[in-house]
Amino acid sequence: MSGEENKSVTVFREFLKIRTDHPKPDYEGSTTFLVQKAKEYGLECEVYRETGLPIVIMKIEGSDPSLPSVLLNSHVDVVPAVRECWNTEPFAAIKDENGNIFARGTQDMKCVCIQFLEVAARFVKSGKKMKRNLYLTFVPDEEIGAGQGMEPFVETQKFRDMNVGVAIDEGLASPTEEFTVFYGERAPWWVHITAVGNTGHGSRFIENTAVEKLMRTINKMLQFRHDQFTDLHKGHHECGKKLGDVTTLNLTVLKAGVGEGPFPNYSYNVIPTKAEAGFDIRIPPTVNLEDFLKQIREWTSEEGLSFEFANYTAKNEMTGVTDDNTWWKTFKQSAENIGIKLVPEIFPAATDSRFIRNLGIPAFGFSPINNTPILLHDHNEFLNEKTFIRGLDIYEQILPNLVNL
Ligand SMILES: [Zn+2]
Repeated sequence: MSGEENKSVTVFREFLKIRTDHPKPDYEGSTTFLVQKAKEYGLECEVYRETGLPIVIMKIEGSDPSLPSVLLNSHVDVVPAVRECWNTEPFAAIKDENGNIFARGTQDMKCVCIQFLEVAARFVKSGKKMKRNLYLTFVPDEEIGAGQGMEPFVETQKFRDMNVGVAIDEGLASPTEEFTVFYGERAPWWVHITAVGNTGHGSRFIENTAVEKLMRTINKMLQFRHDQFTDLHKGHHECGKKLGDVTTLNLTVLKAGVGEGPFPNYSYNVIPTKAEAGFDIRIPPTVNLEDFLKQIREWTSEEGLSFEFANYTAKNEMTGVTDDNTWWKTFKQSAENIGIKLVPEIFPAATDSRFIRNLGIPAFGFSPINNTPILLHDHNEFLNEKTFIRGLDIYEQILPNLVNL
């Protein structure tokens, strides 16, 4: 590499080296780092710990703090990396000769953490006062369901006092020139189904066994899966549905059999009285959740099976992406003004935005990463430094329009 590295890129690479990967994320390390940076940049900063793990909150006060604020939220934790599957050490943040930085979290979402931080630093440095309060929150545990992160945080007085009017959180990289922005996400339901049936010797025709009943239900559900898959893939690519528009359903748990493994320590000649199946189901916000619950009841009750949820949400709000939502209108126009096309989509998985949307607060998922393969949670996750720097410029040009709205 020739020339000196951009300072924000250096901060990004330092942050990538902090081991916030599960199952033992170093939140004290990331907190110390962020607090130090806030001090350096002249940003108001506090560490909130009342929901358990540390949440770093930074603030730039607006000229009219009574107005609803703009929140930039990012999670500091990352998923684990399997060293053998990577070409470089996943927490060394190595940059190659093309400027590609390889590390876990380069896309999801330490890039955005540092872009928010660095753009806030630019705002402070410019000395220009903006209208609304601007908050930055750096939260833990998004990757494991946010049970000690955003989920309880949005219920606190602290969060209410922030009076959030709109939130910007993570999106996804886009492999094309366009940028995607997410206005809703699919509700994750994890359903555990249990069948109970007759037992007997494996040499006879036993009727109504647990496995048989479970299989019939599973087959109905897999037929539904097939229909959704067809729905996703039919039609032209351009106008067709995206993953976020259909319901995915995957059989992820399957249990039956008398005895304890491993193979061959089972009673192969005994019909088991109990069989269980678990599904990961992701439902788009366009589907009525009550109706879908009825559908699950139907699938299971026909065979007399019971079910419970390992993960369930009864609410799944979307943020409006029509011009009557002034936040969206401003966001979209500001992007257009700098020659960026935003393509609104439903996020295929779950992010912290769902907790904010379910309070009725608009939230957009946007990572300013284009022309980059989607590598979140994948091996050899990377981001090019030029894309990172451009993303910083994009935020710098778009965000003031929201804060001054
Ligand atoms: Zn993420």
